[in-house]
Amino acid sequence: MEHAKPLPAYLVQRYKGWNATTYTANRAWYRRLAEEGQRPRAMIISCCDSRVNASSIFGADTGEFFIHRNIANLVPPFIPDGDRHGTSAAIEYAVTALHVAHLIVLGHSSCGGVAGCHAMCSGQAPELEEQTSFVGRWMDILRPGYDRIKGKSDDEIRALEHEAVLVSLENLMTFPFVAKEVEAGNLSLHGLWTDIGEGTLLEFDATRKAFKPI
Ligand SMILES: [Zn+2]
Repeated sequence: MEHAKPLPAYLVQRYKGWNATTYTANRAWYRRLAEEGQRPRAMIISCCDSRVNASSIFGADTGEFFIHRNIANLVPPFIPDGDRHGTSAAIEYAVTALHVAHLIVLGHSSCGGVAGCHAMCSGQAPELEEQTSFVGRWMDILRPGYDRIKGKSDDEIRALEHEAVLVSLENLMTFPFVAKEVEAGNLSLHGLWTDIGEGTLLEFDATRKAFKPI
């Protein structure tokens, strides 16, 4: 693979710094994680956006969260068609092999994926409608959310960011192994949305059917 190049110097330096400090100070913990395997209590599904950092928000240690990131923190519906479904594979592993107790979908403010979905669904982004657009076809998952908020909000982008969390929670329940554990009381689903600039965290309240500050 002639395209693989040496790591840039700034990353080499940072790695060496981590190894000499964080790793060295916690070597026993890392060895235990390696020997005993991971036992994360929660899976987090968040956006690829570099500003969304679930481990930082919750002060999580190595080994605490099983994290899957994709464009706009979306969970597709359960479609067992033999195709390659990365998000579905991560959920299956977390629920059936790791037996996580919590499944958290974390949305966020100024999400580029959600803005693209809004543009596509409102006819402003024909390039995303192309069959060959991976982003467009991925964002199709959120179309039912757009149909629900269209023309009903002063801030449709914000409403659609919240829908990205809700559609994902709904789709999670279409996975038989998720529904089974939820109904057995072994797994709980959580919907969160964070405002990057304000540092706030909202939680979906199923009783009030609204996002409320934590
Ligand atoms: Zn995003």
